[in-house]
Amino acid sequence: MWQFGNLSANKGEKVKGYLTFDLIEEKLPVFLIHGEKEGPTVLIFGGIHGCEYTSIDAALELGKSIDPKEINGKIAVIPIANPASFYARSIYVHPEDKKNLNRSFPGKPDGTAAEKLAYCLNETAIKATDYLIDLHGGDMIEALVPFSIYQVTDDSELTHQSKQLASLFGIEYVVGSTGQVNGSTYGTAAKQGKVAAIVEAGQQGILDKSKSLLLQKGTKNALCSIGVLNGKTVSNPTQQLQTFDWTFADSAGLWYPVVSIGEMVEEDQLIGKITDEFGETIKEYYASVSGVVLFLVTSLAINKKDPLLAIGD
Ligand SMILES: [Zn+2]
Repeated sequence: MWQFGNLSANKGEKVKGYLTFDLIEEKLPVFLIHGEKEGPTVLIFGGIHGCEYTSIDAALELGKSIDPKEINGKIAVIPIANPASFYARSIYVHPEDKKNLNRSFPGKPDGTAAEKLAYCLNETAIKATDYLIDLHGGDMIEALVPFSIYQVTDDSELTHQSKQLASLFGIEYVVGSTGQVNGSTYGTAAKQGKVAAIVEAGQQGILDKSKSLLLQKGTKNALCSIGVLNGKTVSNPTQQLQTFDWTFADSAGLWYPVVSIGEMVEEDQLIGKITDEFGETIKEYYASVSGVVLFLVTSLAINKKDPLLAIGD
């Protein structure tokens, strides 16, 4: 018997139900897929950000389609990990406390809504797994080229395994994060010795079935590589990126980018401008590094401190 929070699954069984917690009222849908044969435990998240629909669909389809008879080990799939954000259509943040769940890990039992949810997910799900695959995409106001991220840690073997995992999704750009993003799922998992990757595809509040299939196929390929699914692992050419450089808005206003996702930019190249409500330029923005534009905010309305774009180098 595999016990996962308040739910359990026998060997060879798939169970779907709601994960519930004492600390919070939210209940999270989960598929528990318990293989007949022994193997590692894998956790798959979708919807840590509630408007990243393509990744939510991908996680849901994986939960539905994976047969416990086909797997060695255990897979827990949580397709909508942040239901309050999903139903509120809340960009980036939990609607109650306006905090980004993917900056709130490992969470706090006595914290705000996102911090409590992060705590529950870490205690119940991340601590109970060997591998974490966290599916994301561009949020409602973001365009992106598919990319994956793993955490670079002091543990070179763990870093190597996470890099391998992140490189098997049929996605060209793979970013090794050196820790500028705090409170993320994959960084928190890595700190606890878990092999982890975040994978991003889809964008702008659109359910893109072709990108969902990309995430599903990539996840199944990664599951083959760690022996949870039987099958040959297919490798794909990747570009390993060392830096992931974000530019943020210094003021509110109207954002006019002049570069596109996937475009190569040079350091000091003009990337866009923010104007006031009369169309007068408040500030022009220039690339702080040379590299590829991995994501780009496409909303005309911009608030102070909002991300504008990120460049991978
Ligand atoms: Zn996300």
